[in-house]
Amino acid sequence: LSNSVTKTRIAPTPSGYLHKGNAFSFSLTYLLARQAGHKILLRIDDADQARYRTAYANSIFKTLEALGIDWDEGPFSVQALENKWSQAKRKELYQTYLNRLAEASEIFACTCSRKQLQEQDATGYSGNCLFKNLPLNTKRAAWRIKDLPEQLLMFGLKGDAHLKALPKEMRHFVVKQKNGQAAYQLSSVADDVHFGITHIIRGQDLKASSLAQISLSQKLALPFNQVRFYHHDLLRQNFGIKLSKTQKAPAVLEQLSTISGKLNFFKKLGSWLGFKNKYTDLQSMLKALQQRKESLML
Ligand SMILES: [Zn+2]
Repeated sequence: LSNSVTKTRIAPTPSGYLHKGNAFSFSLTYLLARQAGHKILLRIDDADQARYRTAYANSIFKTLEALGIDWDEGPFSVQALENKWSQAKRKELYQTYLNRLAEASEIFACTCSRKQLQEQDATGYSGNCLFKNLPLNTKRAAWRIKDLPEQLLMFGLKGDAHLKALPKEMRHFVVKQKNGQAAYQLSSVADDVHFGITHIIRGQDLKASSLAQISLSQKLALPFNQVRFYHHDLLRQNFGIKLSKTQKAPAVLEQLSTISGKLNFFKKLGSWLGFKNKYTDLQSMLKALQQRKESLML
């Protein structure tokens, strides 16, 4: 990496309460970052303003505090989020990139209904609107990417290069939603470049998104191609998590608010991370990592 500052991000979404899987992922990111000396940005992904609640944002800060996670950049309060760091403040940046994609004829307008899209779930977008040449300013049209390479180069944490196949469902991913908002893939890569992110640690479920974002950065000629990725295994359902009927895990903050719940949480986190010793907080785990007594199973 040419830049001497290395930086990762913790990127929660304030459209619900954080669950145990989120807490595990952020803890892992924190440990890897602090061990390697990366700066940490807290990026609260609040682009979906319809689902945003101040209470959810507030619980993000409370959860990170309960976990013992600190960060170097980003909001430290709901007020700072809403006044300065919100993705709503970077709408123009997203629009600049959307315009650039439009000018380069990289996108097409899609007016498929939700039902039509659900029917083509298994293999991804069918290409229904690909050759319709609908005007980009068509009302209630999403913007999708036209063509993507079948394989993309992705770097691992050690700078190891891997050629990865782009999953079918990402072949024509959305960059602008029907409501006019920049879609997740676009705002995420725009933010990562904007804040100078060099390392991204996220779950396996976002691997396809990582590839979509790499492809998008290439189309926009953004300096994102040297970013190093680590996609961790997901917390399994049978790992002590009882999911409710709605498949929504309970808020992890509840568990962290009692002493026994907290101890239980760190016991499970330590085991998930492959620690042999039993640690009761993140700082002890970090200390062990820094003294190289233990290793994270990467
Ligand atoms: Zn369509």
